[in-house]
Amino acid sequence: MRQAKKVMADRRAYLDWNASAPLLPAARATMLDAMDGANPSSVHAEGRAARQAVERARRQVAALVGVRDAEVVFTSGATEAASTLLTPHWTRASEPLFFSRVYVCAADHPATLRGGRFAPEQISLLPVDADGLIRLDALREALARHDAAEGAALVAVHAANNETGVVQPWAEVGALARAHGAVLVLDAVQAAGRLPLSDMLDQADAVILSSHKIGGPQGAGAFVVRPGAPMPRALVTGGGQERGFRAGTENAAAIAGFGAAAQAAGERLERAEAVAAMRDHFEVSLLRLVPDVVIHGAGAPRLPNTSFFSIPALKAETAQMAFDLAGVALSAGSACSSGKVGPSHVLKAMGVEAAEGALRISIGPETDEPELALFEGALERLVRRRAMPAAKAA
Ligand code: PLP
Repeated sequence: MRQAKKVMADRRAYLDWNASAPLLPAARATMLDAMDGANPSSVHAEGRAARQAVERARRQVAALVGVRDAEVVFTSGATEAASTLLTPHWTRASEPLFFSRVYVCAADHPATLRGGRFAPEQISLLPVDADGLIRLDALREALARHDAAEGAALVAVHAANNETGVVQPWAEVGALARAHGAVLVLDAVQAAGRLPLSDMLDQADAVILSSHKIGGPQGAGAFVVRPGAPMPRALVTGGGQERGFRAGTENAAAIAGFGAAAQAAGERLERAEAVAAMRDHFEVSLLRLVPDVVIHGAGAPRLPNTSFFSIPALKAETAQMAFDLAGVALSAGSACSSGKVGPSHVLKAMGVEAAEGALRISIGPETDEPELALFEGALERLVRRRAMPAAKAA
């Protein structure tokens, strides 16, 4: 028994990359180097070395979204970046720019869904269709109805969904925003490292990124603003760090690790096809094993690494625990709030009834066949044991 437990504990499959991707060795090494550093704002040699590490990371993060000359503001993560950007108060060329309304997508991550610093009555929710794609007709109508006399329109939507992996048509969203004079913020947290983002700042005015979704450390993120685009009023005020857009001594080690991960993310995109092949292969096996499985968002373009599915009569929350015991780390719904498992607002927005909830696997370039085999074996056992619908009385 003891031995069996040990074997179980030794063999684990980590299939939860959308929650946090494993830390890349290059990011860890870069962080360790930067950890002994001085304050990046100090003018002495030690401070200048720390500053160099931060500025290198800034270039690496800008390159991830295909730009050289952009305003990159480092924050403690994507949530802080979103809270900074989602404010009614911005400046354009030092002149105040007021936004009277923010348009967010009903399937957005709570970081943008909650509307940041906008008052509840200034937040409009844009619907998605049954596949989880933003309804462009609704966005067009909303922007056409927007009363510019009251203030400008801010649109904040996700580029790719953390639960379903559905990729939003960000070029079309960008064209609509431009046509109506709106400013567009794209939450590229899940798209980064999984899709090429080089056109993103052609479409959007600002892009949100998170370090720990691409193999960097937790607690670092950024927003990247297209040159010449307006800038938000700082959320964290105090010293003049980050050109006044985010006060507080920079977390140089985390930022350096984020930069290393951003650089690697571009290179690792080459493996996206292999990742997609693994995910697709799994879904074929899943459909064979459970013909009545529902794979959410399967009708839309999706990230190569994500599969979000519901199995009738298999309660996702209980299944997640069983998977954990079997050595498989995956998510039920989204796991962004301290282990809380609740009904998915994304599925609700898609109009999907999933009484049993849904399970998400999200993989990455280092996921291997033995990990997937461990998962598929555990899944097969669970499906065999799942509660069968009670036989109807004749
Ligand atoms: N946006 C999306 C799409 C996410 O998936 C997440 C985290 O899951 C966030 C924002 C928040 O990121 P962070 O953990 O860096 O605050």
